Amino acid sequence: MTCIFCDILSGSAPASFVHQDDLCAAFMDIRPINPGHILVVPRAHAVWLSELDSESTGHLFQVAQQVDSALRSSGLRCEGVNLFLADGRAAGQEVMHVHLHVIPRYKGDGHHLRFSPAYFTRTPEAELAVNAGLIRSRMK
Ligand code: 5GP
Ligand code: ZN
Repeated sequence: MTCIFCDILSGSAPASFVHQDDLCAAFMDIRPINPGHILVVPRAHAVWLSELDSESTGHLFQVAQQVDSALRSSGLRCEGVNLFLADGRAAGQEVMHVHLHVIPRYKGDGHHLRFSPAYFTRTPEAELAVNAGLIRSRMK
């Protein structure tokens, strides 16, 4: 099975890189939400975040922090930054190789997160506690 991000990381497909090391690379998104939108991508091919080794996972966020910092002083319009990781198709993942978006944002850029009406109703504490218990029991 071919993977466009594996092809980019191996050099067989083109990309504009801002960073490369043994564990990951960062390159420009071909369809930027705003100019300067970067993808931080682990060299190891993993589809889901839970499949990625913990060293690569931690490193991904360290590089994202460096990219965030570089963006803010790059001269590109950047008043804030969104980190975004779509883990699974239902979460919006289109390229099935883990990647962390680093997206420069500025007031009036026209992008918004949209929430369903359910978001605006406060969830009862008892329900939060039940859900916390379900997740806590699966923490490794
Ligand atoms: P996802 O929806 O999976 O989180 O995001 C995939 C991202 O990969 C999209 O923002 C899309 O523009 C970007 N992308 C898809 N194909 C390519 C490509 O061939 N090169 C680059 N640089 N980015 C790509
Ligand atoms: Zn891949």
